[in-house]
Amino acid sequence: MRPGLERIKPPSDGSFIEYIDGSYKVPDKPIIAYIEGDGIGPEVTSSARAVLDAAVEKVYGKARRIVWWELYAGYKAEKLFGSLLPEDTLTGMMMAKVTLKGPLETPIGTGHRSLNVTIRQRLDLYSNIRPVKYFRGVPAPSRYADKINLIIFRENTEDVYAGIEWQAGSREALKVIEFLHREFGIELTPDTGIGLKPISEWRTKRHARKALRYAIKHGRRVVTFMHKGNIMKYTEGAFVNWGYEVALNEFREYVVTEKEVNEQYGGKQPEGKILVNDRVADNMFQQIITRPWDYDVIVTPNLNGDYLSDAASALVGGIGLAPGLNAGDIYAFAEPVHGTAPKYAGKGVANPSATILAGAMLLEHIGWVEASNLIWRAVEETIASGKMTQDLARHYENVKPLSTKEFTEAVIETLKSL
Ligand code: NAP
Repeated sequence: MRPGLERIKPPSDGSFIEYIDGSYKVPDKPIIAYIEGDGIGPEVTSSARAVLDAAVEKVYGKARRIVWWELYAGYKAEKLFGSLLPEDTLTGMMMAKVTLKGPLETPIGTGHRSLNVTIRQRLDLYSNIRPVKYFRGVPAPSRYADKINLIIFRENTEDVYAGIEWQAGSREALKVIEFLHREFGIELTPDTGIGLKPISEWRTKRHARKALRYAIKHGRRVVTFMHKGNIMKYTEGAFVNWGYEVALNEFREYVVTEKEVNEQYGGKQPEGKILVNDRVADNMFQQIITRPWDYDVIVTPNLNGDYLSDAASALVGGIGLAPGLNAGDIYAFAEPVHGTAPKYAGKGVANPSATILAGAMLLEHIGWVEASNLIWRAVEETIASGKMTQDLARHYENVKPLSTKEFTEAVIETLKSL
């Protein structure tokens, strides 16, 4: 066993996915790690695992099977091992390469630092990929919901999210305040909390590169950089400039800029080219509401992406349906966009769709695309047939809400029938 992996053992009947020459080598019985998470996490991850197993069996028969390996984080880990994020868990996630993760609680304004942020940083999962699309039958607040089909690429390691901050009145905050005054003549009162917003060229460019590669591979039409560069020139302004540099220096034959479309193509996007443009953050929010059909892949810094993905998900019916994949070059974990929804924990009523779809993203990530596609279709067909959990059913007068378990069974039944 690997040094450091003292308290958890990988299952003996599968083998690990390998990363060789820039791509995965996936065995027929890959060990895939999972972390239940806090709150509604255990309910929704168990549902997702059941759906993934059923989809893999339906598509590949006995030839392929996922061998699940439980790893621990959050309160379950604290109870078992006295630590919210044991080092063994990070080691295990690296061994498995890919993990399905339930939501983890982060206390607000006090307590421990976000475990999610720590995992993303330790595994260098620099892009958070969040598809937002409309599912038939979902009661959605946007009148254009059926025209929403976005992939939000949120940078995952930098920005004010990097966790470089000091409490007002702390020794560190006072020192920074004193430094800013001494070196730059900046006046801040001693009761000021301080947070830093680092955004670097290298990290921005690798993120933009991943988004552009994704757009090319999946035949997407538009890549938009979202930023607040008019105000934060050297962070978000630099973000968009570096994004264009990657697009134009590394993907020139695939892309055309908005300026080129207007000046050289009479305002019409040339066939087969990806339109690259940018939008200021506040405008981006209104654009996805008023003309969502103009947007496709949206590349954002960390904080903007967090806000935008919840807002976009709400337009199509809520975050109960929004999955995400955190990916770097080697490792990845999939998770729902939503949190632990404490008020529903243990009640068996949470919507597991986001976690099921996160699992589908994980399967696509390892190349099991047919099983992944089947899951997306099955979730959509199930909801379209009027079977849904309370978060969606409450918007209809005559739809009886299903429990998490009943909905899971309905999805499995649907996928078997497709
Ligand atoms: P939340 O857990 O996403 O829940 C907010 C609301 O969204 C719920 O009250 C519920 O709305 C609805 N909701 C979310 N997931 C649902 C589901 N699967 N089924 C049905 N309804 C669902 O957000 P929060 O209350 O702000 O955060 C709670 C905790 O989760 C915090 O500690 C936060 O830090 C953590 N969190 C973790 C992650 C992560 O692990 N990646 C992400 C986000 C938040 P209604 O009340 O309208 O029914």
